[in-house]
Amino acid sequence: MKRFDKKGMMIYPNPLRDQKVLQKEEILVIKECYCPNGHSLISSRVMFNEFEGLVFKVKRSDKEGLVALTPVLGNKSRITIDVDLKDGEIWKIFCPECDIALPYYTKCECGADLTTFFTNNKADYGSILGLCNRVGCYHATIRHGDELLTKSMLEAL
Ligand SMILES: [Zn+2]
Ligand SMILES: [Zn+2]
Repeated sequence: MKRFDKKGMMIYPNPLRDQKVLQKEEILVIKECYCPNGHSLISSRVMFNEFEGLVFKVKRSDKEGLVALTPVLGNKSRITIDVDLKDGEIWKIFCPECDIALPYYTKCECGADLTTFFTNNKADYGSILGLCNRVGCYHATIRHGDELLTKSMLEAL
C-alpha cells in the first residue's frame, strides 16, 4: 500500500467510503494551513465528518463572507456564511484573522489565479497548497520542496 505523509498533510483511511462520497481507500487531508502572517486557517468551528475545516474570508466588489472547505482534497464539500458563491465567479481570498490577502501563486489553467495557502507557518513557498479562486474550479496544486503534486496526481494516489 502506498504511504504518503508530508508536513501539514496526512493520508487517512477514508471514513467517507461508506457514504459513497469517495470510494478511495485513503484520502489526503490538509492538517495545517496558514496565512502569510502565520494564522491557522484550520478551524474546529467547522467540522467535515471528523476533520476540521479550512476557513477563510472571501471578498468580491462590496461583498464579503466566510467560506469553509473540507480539508479532504478532491472532495467538494463547502459551507458559506454571508455570501452566495456562483460557479464561474472569481473571489479574492483573505485571512479571517488579520485580513491579509492570500498571495497568488500562479495562474490556474482556467485563467483565474491559484491562491497560496501555506502549509507551514513561516510563509515559505516551499510547502504550499494552491487553490483556484474561481468558484466551481477544483484545480489544486501541492508543492512540498521539490515535489509538485497536481490534482490528477492526487486523484491517482
Ligand atoms: Zn492572518
Ligand atoms: Zn481554476
